Amino acid sequence: MREEINQLVTQAHEAYLSLRKTTFKQRAELMNLIADEIEALGEELIQTAHEETHLPVARLTGEKGRTIFQWRSYGAALAAGTVLDVRIDTALPERTPARPDIRKTYVGLGPVVVFGASNFPFAFSTAGGDTASAIAAGCSVIVKGHDAHKKTAQIMGDAITRAIQKAGYHAGTFAQVFPTNREASQELVKHLLVKAVGFTGSYAGGKALFDIANQRPEPIPVFSEMGSVNPVFVLPEKMKNSPVEVAQQYIASLTLGVGQFCTNPGILVVPAEQEDFQKALVEAAAQVAPCKMLHEGIAASYVQNMNTLTAQENVEILHSASSTEKGVGAAALAFTTAETFLANQALQEEVFGPFGLVVAYSNPKQLEEIAQKIHGQLTCTVLGEEAEIAQYEDLILYITDKCGRILFNGFPTGVEVVSSMHHGGPFPACTDSRFTSVGPDSIRRFARPVSYQNVPDAYLPAELKNANPLGLYRLVDGKITQEAL
Ligand code: NAP
Repeated sequence: MREEINQLVTQAHEAYLSLRKTTFKQRAELMNLIADEIEALGEELIQTAHEETHLPVARLTGEKGRTIFQWRSYGAALAAGTVLDVRIDTALPERTPARPDIRKTYVGLGPVVVFGASNFPFAFSTAGGDTASAIAAGCSVIVKGHDAHKKTAQIMGDAITRAIQKAGYHAGTFAQVFPTNREASQELVKHLLVKAVGFTGSYAGGKALFDIANQRPEPIPVFSEMGSVNPVFVLPEKMKNSPVEVAQQYIASLTLGVGQFCTNPGILVVPAEQEDFQKALVEAAAQVAPCKMLHEGIAASYVQNMNTLTAQENVEILHSASSTEKGVGAAALAFTTAETFLANQALQEEVFGPFGLVVAYSNPKQLEEIAQKIHGQLTCTVLGEEAEIAQYEDLILYITDKCGRILFNGFPTGVEVVSSMHHGGPFPACTDSRFTSVGPDSIRRFARPVSYQNVPDAYLPAELKNANPLGLYRLVDGKITQEAL
C-alpha cells in the first residue's frame, strides 16, 4: 500500500504542477464539465446510494442537485474573481521612496487529501465541497473514499475522472483510494508532497489527522469539520408565548434525517418549570418513527454515546424508544438542570443521532454561564420574542463568540450554499475557525496568496495582467473595477 500511495501522490504532484499553468477561467470550465458528468448520472447513482446509506431517494435527489450546484457556483465565483480576490497597487515612482508595482493573487497549495463524510454521500464525500474547492484553488485531489458508501464513491469518482479525461487534464488531477487500514490512510497525510487535508467526520478522526499533520517535518493545514451539538437557547417570553410550537419545531429539526446532520441541535436550553412545553416535547418525539441510520456502526455508537451521557449524575430520561431491528435509531430526550450541565463537561459530548438534551436554567445568569462555557460550535440558535432579545445583549455576544453561524427564530439543520454562508466554527467544531467548508469561500482553504513585485506584464499570471484578459473584478489602487490598466 505504501508504494501505491507514493505513486498516487507523485502523480498528484505532477498534476498540480500542470494545474499551476491554468487560469481561473479554465478551472471553472473544468468544474462545469465535472458538474455535467454528475448531472448525467442517472438512477444507478441514486439507487446505489439509497441501498448503501438508507437515505431516502428524495433526499438523495436533492443532495445530487446541491452537489452539482456546488461545482458550478464555486466555478462561477472563481471565474468572476469574487473569491480569490486579486489586488493591484500600481507603482508610484514620484513618491519618496518610490513605490514599486505590487500585485497579489492566489496559487493552489499542492496535492490535497480529502476524507469525506458518511452522512452526505454526494455533497460532502468524493465529489463534495472539499474536492470542488480544492480543484477550484488549483490543487490536485486524492480522496480517501468512505467505506460506508464505497460503490457510490466509485460512481462519483468515475464521473470526475471522465470529465478530467475529456478536458485533457493530467490523470493525477483526481484519484480515489480505499486504504485497507487507518495507518495507510495516515500515510497519505504524512507524505511530504501532500500540502493540505480536508476532513469531515468525527472529533476523534479529525483531531488525529490534525495532530499527524502537525508532527510532520513540514506541518500542513488540516481543515477538519468535526462534531457539534449546536445548542438552541430559548428566552423566557418566547417559551411563555409558544411552548408547543417551540417543542414541535425542535423535535422536527432534531429528528430530521435520523439526526445525522453536523448541524443537528443536540442541546436545548430552556427556562425551568415549563410543563406544557415538556409534555409537548415528549409527545412530538413519541410520534417520530425509528429509522435506519447510515450504517450499523453509527447506530451502535448512537446507543452507546447516549447511554454514556444519560448515565451521568442528575440526568433524567424524558423519552426513549427501542427497536429490535438492527441499525435503527429512535428519537430520545434527556433532561438536566443548568447547575448539573455547568459542572459536568461530559454533558457537552455529541451524541450523533436524534438525541436531545434539555437543560433548564432558573435565571438569566445561568443562561449567560452556559453560553460562556459551551464548547465551540458550527451553529448556535436563539429563540426569542423580538422585544426581549434586546435585553440579552451580552448573552448574544457570548453565543456569537462560540459559533460560526448564529440563527434567530429558526433551526440550524439546512445549510445554504451561498457566498455569505460560514460553515465552520471555533474548536472543537473545527480545527480552523477562520474558514468555511460550504460556499465559494471554502476555496480559500486550499489557496495561498502570492505578491508579485515589479514583475513584467508578460510574466504575470493572467489574472494580474494589465489587459485583465479574464475580465475579473479587481481591487486596483483601492477601487474595485473590471477595467484594464
Ligand atoms: P469518522 O469515523 O471520523 O470517519 C470519517 C473518515 O475519516 C472515514 O473515511 C474514516 O476512515 C477516516 N478516519 C477516521 N478516523 C481516522 C484516523 N484516526 N486515521 C485515519 N483515517 C481516519 O466519521 P463518520 O463515521 O464518517 O461520521 C460520523 C461523525 O461525523 C459524527 O461524529 C458527526 O458528528 C461527524 N460529522 C461532522 C460533520 C461536520 O460538518 N462537522 C458532518 C458530518 C458528520 P475509516 O473509518 O475507513 O478508517
